[in-house]
Amino acid sequence: MKSYRYLYGPVPSRRLGRSLGIDLVPHKICTYDCIYCQIGKTAEKTVLRKEYVPVGEVLEEVKKFLQKETTSVDHLSLSGAGEPTLHSQIGSIIEGIKKLSSIPVAVITNGSLLFEEEVRRDLLQADVVLPSLDAVSPEVFGRMNRPHRKVSIEKVIEGMVEFRKIYRGKIWLEILFCKGVNDGPDELQKMKEVIDRIQPDLVHLNTVVRPPSEDWAKPLSEREMEDIRSFFGEKASIISEFDRHLTYVTEEDIKDGILRILRRRPLSLLDLSKWMGIPQGELEGQILSLSQEGKIQPRLHDKLIYYEILTEIKKE
Ligand code: SF4
Repeated sequence: MKSYRYLYGPVPSRRLGRSLGIDLVPHKICTYDCIYCQIGKTAEKTVLRKEYVPVGEVLEEVKKFLQKETTSVDHLSLSGAGEPTLHSQIGSIIEGIKKLSSIPVAVITNGSLLFEEEVRRDLLQADVVLPSLDAVSPEVFGRMNRPHRKVSIEKVIEGMVEFRKIYRGKIWLEILFCKGVNDGPDELQKMKEVIDRIQPDLVHLNTVVRPPSEDWAKPLSEREMEDIRSFFGEKASIISEFDRHLTYVTEEDIKDGILRILRRRPLSLLDLSKWMGIPQGELEGQILSLSQEGKIQPRLHDKLIYYEILTEIKKE
């Protein structure tokens, strides 16, 4: 995976299996600046759709990957270090990928631009769309997602409802909970009503498990998450860690894999071990070596050590 600019992984994901990430916007351009964001603070908050990365180069890399890689992939996922629907040609990219492969295409989005008809049309060919909706009332939405001023929660919800009417693929809605921010009974009740309107196929519940953008964004306990899951009913499930194994051949491959994964989010040694399918003991040497090379650094969060990319490399 060394020579790719827009691809990362494949990384294991509970929801998508082995997923090849396709990054459509540079780090970190988004319509939101969520307090829990794992990839840091938003560098450019915008609703401007444009060709942030060249369509031809992205498709060329996907083609190259499909020709060269022998490992299996369960989903080709448009996601990355920002909001992928900001890419004005995301529809053409999905169409192009579909011509290259029969592997299902997933779009991991914050759903904020689905109020635009063009965005809804662009995503029609995807096999699964995973939008997030962490709040339904304006104050909670503002505090949690800190959206661009042109994005209101009313528009976001309407966009999702309209998209459901025309989209034949699967919609897996994700809600991430932060303690004391979006977990109050009133918000939960309103969320349930909105979910009934959106009619997703599944509802995935998540909480803060990796270092957030804001230190005060705290996780819910397992018990609290379980209570919310039963309140939301049978479509809802709590997202947990994934344990499928990847194969990395040489030490350089392993180091490259660590950098690629950490470029997206900081992880603990245990997380890295699970994500990469490599015992912790075998990763320790590469982590040490990358630290000595000045490429990564440890960061203490909630009494756990996470590793993160040093800023200058993250921007590459
Ligand atoms: S979590 Fe997603 S939607 Fe929120 S700021 Fe980060 S990239 Fe944007």
